Amino acid sequence: MPFPIDPALFPYVFPAAAAVLGLFLGSFYSVCVSRGIAETSIVSPPSHCPACGHRLRPWELVPLVSWLALGGRCSSCRQRISVLYPLIELASAVFAALVAVRFGPTWWFVGHLALGGLYIIASGIDFQVYLLPNYLTYPAAALGLALGVLDPAIGPVLAGVGALAGFGVFWLLAAAYRTAKGVDGLGGGDVKLMLSIGGAVGGLGLPYAVLLGSLAALVASPFYVFGRGRGRQMPIPFGPFLCFGGMVQILYGREIFALLAGR
Ligand SMILES: [Zn+2]
Repeated sequence: MPFPIDPALFPYVFPAAAAVLGLFLGSFYSVCVSRGIAETSIVSPPSHCPACGHRLRPWELVPLVSWLALGGRCSSCRQRISVLYPLIELASAVFAALVAVRFGPTWWFVGHLALGGLYIIASGIDFQVYLLPNYLTYPAAALGLALGVLDPAIGPVLAGVGALAGFGVFWLLAAAYRTAKGVDGLGGGDVKLMLSIGGAVGGLGLPYAVLLGSLAALVASPFYVFGRGRGRQMPIPFGPFLCFGGMVQILYGREIFALLAGR
């Protein structure tokens, strides 16, 4: 019996399947973000429009497609639905495909997909309400540290050093900012998030993860300083950018090290 798929396509099959999985996971992450902001349960009540309470029908729950088909508005009350939600679905799909390419069909794929899921949900909430909830940062810390400990390229010592250094440096930064300005500039959530990122990328990867995250925040900063139309200055949530830096280091840390070593 001939094989249904050309073996030459095998390297693409798994990432493509992962992208589809990521799209649907992203749909779930969207729900987690909106419920996390509303601080309601994930399972009940069923998905509904936050403005009018219209209960979403199955065809309104298709990732990306529904948002585009509805023109970014509720089908019942025409209230705008944030572009953040389809972006979460898209980011989740792209991330899942990249993790699939990097790790293949292994437990590393599952572990990093889960870690990225926590980061995406936390980022979606931080973008909107400037908060990284403990119920996301604590599991992320445990999972990030576990992945770092088990990774032969990092191991228990560097994973521990990374987690403690990430936590310690950001704790000091937060304390220094509070002392200098009298207000919180860096949230406690960012400090706890660094336990996870530091553990997952290890002590050697940590500086690059933070640098990548800071660069991404710098690129995005004009949107916060000049954006949102009303000329109002918005604080920049740092959490999503730290997550981004951490994920880039997880996906491409080997290449970054090789590049820096001139190989
Ligand atoms: Zn509505």
